[in-house]
Amino acid sequence: MSGVAREEVPFSPTEPYRFCPADGTRLGEPRPSGGASCPHCGRSWYRSSAPAVGTVIVEDGRALVTVRAGEPEKGRLDLPGGFLEVGEHPMDGIVREAREELGVEIEVVGDPILPEIHTYGPDGGYVLPIGFRARIVSGDPNPTDDVADVRWISLEEVDDADFAWEHDRRMVRAALEDA
Ligand SMILES: [Zn+2]
Repeated sequence: MSGVAREEVPFSPTEPYRFCPADGTRLGEPRPSGGASCPHCGRSWYRSSAPAVGTVIVEDGRALVTVRAGEPEKGRLDLPGGFLEVGEHPMDGIVREAREELGVEIEVVGDPILPEIHTYGPDGGYVLPIGFRARIVSGDPNPTDDVADVRWISLEEVDDADFAWEHDRRMVRAALEDA
């Protein structure tokens, strides 16, 4: 992004689309449901939370947490994961993210954990998080991509760990208490 002047643009997560993503026509007034219709192509458009997957990898009673390599919240702790790709199944998405960020193959253990809905930073869009508990089936965690480092923390260390987001802290606690 260097060299590109970016403009402050206020963002409201509840604002519907204003232009048709298919043809750029200005949409009609949003309906109470939040959808808005395009007078040109007739499609309805909705603003929805973006689905994201995260995982707590557990080994010998400790959880793997990642140190963020970039903004927002650079240097603080979060969990392996990210936004799903279009059409991607959440289970495939979390396996892909673990491969991309850590270079490991994981296997999901137990039921999904569903943390609360949150936004991606104070000015970001709504995220629908889907959490998993997992174990490593092959490879040693080797940070790549947007991860600076990895750490293993125990249940006793969860309260004092410098998590970027409280929902990650709660997810680590839930996974370790259930381990
Ligand atoms: Zn249209």
